[in-house]
Amino acid sequence: MTGIHWLIWLVVGLFVTITSTKLGGKLTMFLWVGILFIVIGIGKLAYKMLTAPKESHKGHAPQVHKTTHHEVHNGPKRYCPKCGSQAIVHDNYCKHCGMRLR
Ligand SMILES: [Zn+2]
Repeated sequence: MTGIHWLIWLVVGLFVTITSTKLGGKLTMFLWVGILFIVIGIGKLAYKMLTAPKESHKGHAPQVHKTTHHEVHNGPKRYCPKCGSQAIVHDNYCKHCGMRLR
């Protein structure tokens, strides 16, 4: 029952309901079966709509974390031409060897 798509339940339900009403009052049992199929189809659709937004929200959270992490790593960097050690952009002299940076 869980493997069948909600749209199939709705289409089959509508088909049974319409054909039973067209054929006359002798097939009232089929009319109820058709209504039951439609109810199952709507129920499946409602269940799918309730569970779907939670999944998309889970996948969205790590993406926001990645962008903030990327900005930190892309900060301004400067390297000493003499010793090659990393220095802050605003520094005028190297902290390791005292080489003038600007
Ligand atoms: Zn240096």
